[in-house]
Amino acid sequence: MPDFDSDASRRHLVPFDGNFSLADFPTSIDELPAKKVLKNELEDLVEELHDLQRVLYADGRYAVLAVFQAMDAAGKDSTIRKVFSGVNPAGFRVEAFGVPSERERKHDFLWRCARALPERGKIGIFNRSHYEECLVVRVKPELLEGQNLPHVDPATIWDERLESIRQWERHLARNGTVIVKFWLNVSMEEQKNRFLRRLDRADKHWKFSAKDLDDRARWPEYMHAYQEALRRTSRDFAPWYAIPADSKPYMRVAVARTMVNTLRRLDLSHPELSEDERRALTASRNRLVSPD
Ligand code: ADP
Repeated sequence: MPDFDSDASRRHLVPFDGNFSLADFPTSIDELPAKKVLKNELEDLVEELHDLQRVLYADGRYAVLAVFQAMDAAGKDSTIRKVFSGVNPAGFRVEAFGVPSERERKHDFLWRCARALPERGKIGIFNRSHYEECLVVRVKPELLEGQNLPHVDPATIWDERLESIRQWERHLARNGTVIVKFWLNVSMEEQKNRFLRRLDRADKHWKFSAKDLDDRARWPEYMHAYQEALRRTSRDFAPWYAIPADSKPYMRVAVARTMVNTLRRLDLSHPELSEDERRALTASRNRLVSPD
């Protein structure tokens, strides 16, 4: 059993010094714990996340932003669903980012993400994110043509975009948004198995799109884009975690553990009531218990 205690999700933490190498981050782990063990651990973590979210809300100083990026079929949707299944929907929102709309393309690339940020006390999930601008757009630079940019220098645009992201995230962090980013790292082989299952099972047909095979054909370009993005944007104020994704039960526990650890590290507390507030509560109590 991997030791997930305290800060052990650090084993998946992408270094902050720009030296991240895909080769050092596996898609599966040795000695996978039994499914039952992982299931029980996930249940405990889901419960703890629920409790932590309540304090996050009461504390009211921090917003939490969790970003999810992955190749198709890595399990983004189901991981989000399972890990946050215990969280109160009133304090939590998932935003999925697809191909930008015409309106979104009239703005800078961070605009639509800025509009979807969580407020203090809440958890926001980005299912895909501003990173697509340095992933899919980098792999298919023809997409830039639809963006009506006044000038594009292919030699510098990706570094500039990653710099913008870094600075934006630093700004958010300074202002109380706690950012944690997950790259669900699935292998090509496992993706193939999952695609085949989608094709073989009628109840999974809807999940399959022939377009997914085009992205699969560009795997090396995507991996290069991920490596560059993670190198340049994993920082202490907005860390990336490269989570092995070939085992979904393991991946979910690793994500849940990282979320719990991140929230535990905050100095969260229920706000102290002032004397006046205490007196007001006592007065309300007295009114309630006195005869109507
Ligand atoms: P998912 O694959 O996440 O379940 P969809 O099937 O709706 O969701 O796919 C969303 C698509 O939108 C992906 O192919 C993704 O590459 C694309 N996309 C997201 N952001 C951008 C962007 N900024 N520019 C171009 N395409 C994008």
